[in-house]
Amino acid sequence: SACLSVASSDFCECLLQYENVWEKANIEIETDIAEDVKVKADAELLGHVWNNLFSNAFKFTPSGGTVTVSLTATDHHAIVKVTDTGCGITPEVGAHMFEKFYQGDTSHSVQGNGLGLALVKRVIDIMQGEIGVESAVGKGSTFTVRIRRA
Ligand code: ADP
Repeated sequence: SACLSVASSDFCECLLQYENVWEKANIEIETDIAEDVKVKADAELLGHVWNNLFSNAFKFTPSGGTVTVSLTATDHHAIVKVTDTGCGITPEVGAHMFEKFYQGDTSHSVQGNGLGLALVKRVIDIMQGEIGVESAVGKGSTFTVRIRRA
């Protein structure tokens, strides 16, 4: 059920649901969110994508860290970046983390089931979008999602 959804407002709403999380964890938040960017997507499925990326960013960032979230638009694409100053991702974890039930960091296994990023990847694939990650161990990670604009 692909419906037209306004990415920007749904996106902001989704992020704001984490306000108590970042406040409690003493994580600074920086945002750069373009207005009225529309993508052709199922709003609920897309919500799962943002929720997973946001919850991981806050989960893997220690107190005093920063999470930076941006939504920008090019002529044909909406681009979302979620950057954290967390533990980072080793090449080994990076190679498997989009697989079902994989958890690179089992110390956080109570919060999550390793399905998150596998579902995220599946949803983005269905939308014919792209997801990638850049990371430096001990410094942090950036997840980038690219989806076609409506
Ligand atoms: P879960 O949330 O249950 O851990 P995910 O599929 O969302 O499952 O993530 C899989 C694994 O990818 C995590 O266990 C962790 O090792 C790694 N990971 C995901 N996001 C991050 C991040 N922002 N920083 C560091 N590691 C991450």
